[in-house]
Amino acid sequence: MEDQLIEELVLANRILFAQGVVDAFGHVSARSSADPSRFLLTWAIAPALATAADVLSFDLDGNTPDAAGRELYSERFIHAAVYRSRPDVMGVVHSHSPSIIPFTVTEAALRPIWHMSAFLESSVSVFDTQDTAGDTDLLIKTPALGAALASSLGESTVALMRGHGSVVVGRSVREAVSRAIYTEANAKLQAESERMGKVKFLTPGEAKLMNDYSRPDVRRQWDLWVRELA
Ligand SMILES: [Zn+2]
Repeated sequence: MEDQLIEELVLANRILFAQGVVDAFGHVSARSSADPSRFLLTWAIAPALATAADVLSFDLDGNTPDAAGRELYSERFIHAAVYRSRPDVMGVVHSHSPSIIPFTVTEAALRPIWHMSAFLESSVSVFDTQDTAGDTDLLIKTPALGAALASSLGESTVALMRGHGSVVVGRSVREAVSRAIYTEANAKLQAESERMGKVKFLTPGEAKLMNDYSRPDVRRQWDLWVRELA
C-alpha cells in the first residue's frame, strides 16, 4: 500500500516538472497511507530527479529518521503544518509557479476564471511572512511560520505566499497535483483576460456544482500526464 503511494509521489514530482509548476525548486508530499500522523516527501532534490529511493517519511513536526546525512527541504514545515491542521488533506504541493506571483504582490485577487479551477472559489488568501516575522528570507523554515501559513490557508484549497509562491492541497496527492497545475493556468488566463476587459468569473453556485462533480482520483488527466512522461 505504502509502496504504491511512494510510486505515485514519484510520478507527482515528475509531472509537476513536466507541466511547468516546479523547476529545481518546489516540492510535493503525500500523507502516509499507513500512518496518518506521518507524510512522505523526498530529500532536497529537484523534483524531476525523484525516485522511490529518495522518498523519506516525516512526522508532523517535520522530523525524519531516514535522512542518513542527506539535506532536507528547509520548507518541509509547510507540509507538516498543513497535515497537522487539515485532517482531510492527503496531498500538498508547494511551488513558485510564475504566473501566480503577480497575484501575491498586488491587490488583484485570484478567482476561478474557468470550470477547471472552480476549487479557487474557496477564498484564496495571501500569506505574508512580514505579518508574522518581519524581514526574513521569505522561506517557511520554522514550525511557527508553517503554522501561520496553515492558519492562512484555513479550510481553503490554495494559499498564496507574498513574493514567493503558493501552497495547494488535495484529497489525494493526485488532486493536489492537478489543482497546482490548474491554479497556474488560471493565473495566466486571468491576467490575460483582465487585460482585455471586465472579467466574468464563475459564480459561487457554478463553482459549487463543478466542485461537487470533481473526483479526487482525477483519473483522466493523471493517466495522460503519466503517459506523457514516457
Ligand atoms: Zn518556496
